[in-house]
Amino acid sequence: MPLPNCEYKSGIDFVTNNKEQTHIFYNFVYTLLNIHNLKRILYSVCIFSIISWYPALAQRQCGFEITKAALIAKDPAWAQKLQNQKASLQSVADSYKKNLLANKGRKTTAVSAIPVIFHYLVTNAQLLQLGGIAGVQQRVDSQMAVINRDFNRQNLDSVLIPSGWKPLFASTGIRFGLAHTDPSGHGTPGYDIKIIPNSPGGFSGASSNYSNAKHASTGGTDSWDVNKYLNIWCTNFTDFGGLLGLTTYKSGTGIGGFPLDEEGVVLNYAVVGKRVSSADYYIPTTYHSDYYDQGRTLTHELGHFFEIWHTWGDDGGFCPWNGGFDDGLSDTPPEGDSKYFAYPYTIAGGTYRDSCHLNGSVEQQPYGAASLDFMNYTDDVAMQLFTPDQAAVMASMVLMSDGENYSLTQHPELLNWSPITGVNDVPANYSLVVSPNPTSGVVYITFNQNTDELQEITVTDIFGKTIYNNHISGSGKSIYSIDLSGYSKGIYLVRCNFASGSITRKISLQ
Ligand SMILES: [Zn+2]
Repeated sequence: MPLPNCEYKSGIDFVTNNKEQTHIFYNFVYTLLNIHNLKRILYSVCIFSIISWYPALAQRQCGFEITKAALIAKDPAWAQKLQNQKASLQSVADSYKKNLLANKGRKTTAVSAIPVIFHYLVTNAQLLQLGGIAGVQQRVDSQMAVINRDFNRQNLDSVLIPSGWKPLFASTGIRFGLAHTDPSGHGTPGYDIKIIPNSPGGFSGASSNYSNAKHASTGGTDSWDVNKYLNIWCTNFTDFGGLLGLTTYKSGTGIGGFPLDEEGVVLNYAVVGKRVSSADYYIPTTYHSDYYDQGRTLTHELGHFFEIWHTWGDDGGFCPWNGGFDDGLSDTPPEGDSKYFAYPYTIAGGTYRDSCHLNGSVEQQPYGAASLDFMNYTDDVAMQLFTPDQAAVMASMVLMSDGENYSLTQHPELLNWSPITGVNDVPANYSLVVSPNPTSGVVYITFNQNTDELQEITVTDIFGKTIYNNHISGSGKSIYSIDLSGYSKGIYLVRCNFASGSITRKISLQ
């Protein structure tokens, strides 16, 4: 949590942007008055203050603390419930690892990838910023690759992990796939796009977990069955410019919590996916001429979705032995405050040590602080791993038949393209016919009405490989022909992207 911003709002008169002095001040007051909960009180003030003020495009900020504060505001009993949840995590991790050792880690063999749906809520200008529908497609596809790699110990930047941390580089075994059948049985590319009004140009309500973005009745998009799909809304946060993402996790829903149908992740629309061009629009970081452009915001938020906490324990800079919190897991070392930037590693084989590295004279961070952990606040390029305990907690939620997210792994049919291939929400005037179907070579795409908003036609095989791509400039024609005679027999997908939606048709080449 960025203390300088809290200082600004709370009016405490000491130097901003100097965390060391901040800690000295807090420690002084803490010692002088011996009020055990003082820092928590101050911290709560900070949480509510930053909801109403935050510099645009600042350092990484996720909504985990906001969500916790909102739950406690609903009912003070949540404060204890949340602590109990965190206190249970180590036993959850230990139990999973013990079962794995006993070769019983998965109580079922029928676990498949989690179907993911991205709901974009953007203005026309924001859609253009993203590169139009083709840009959204690239960002969604690259985002899926990032989370599958990060959750399975396959991220290529793992070569950066120092040797001391290598034994703590873990895989969850959780996999994700784009949903290709929507709740009504129609085909979907795994994302939908709703154009929202230029004013306000996004959604507000961080303390309600952006509830209004999650319902069509308030201008957003309804979730798809949260027990079958992982819902990810991508939009602009008009009340909280520095926020990159916010997660509604299952243990925070239900009686006394957030509505069940609001489970999922809300992301800033410009941190989704992985950059392919220097011209791509992504949110810049404050300090390092860097960007949140490697897809790590979703990796981080999915950690919360699967119930793990920030590595430093969200306590504003204290150590566990000095009134602070920890993240409830033993293999993430005790840590002072959140880490930003891309820190230089200063320990041989490790990262660097922070203010919590010594408890008395005992070294607590033999290989440094967990600045490289996905559950820290470092820049995208500086985070590379989940630890075994973190991975075990998440796997327990997803892969165990009694895990709270297990149902998401039970619908492999949603990953397949539906026989009903029309995308449901495309305006009727874009209706088209692909014929002949089946075909032995040339297919004709005939548009029933004007095609002024047609931007692109692509043909992919069932593995997602693009075999034909035609960027349309100017007014579209009413008929296009594509020659597939040189390709293998089988099923192909023709996708027509328009400024306000897309249509996909399945064709058979015989
Ligand atoms: Zn977070």
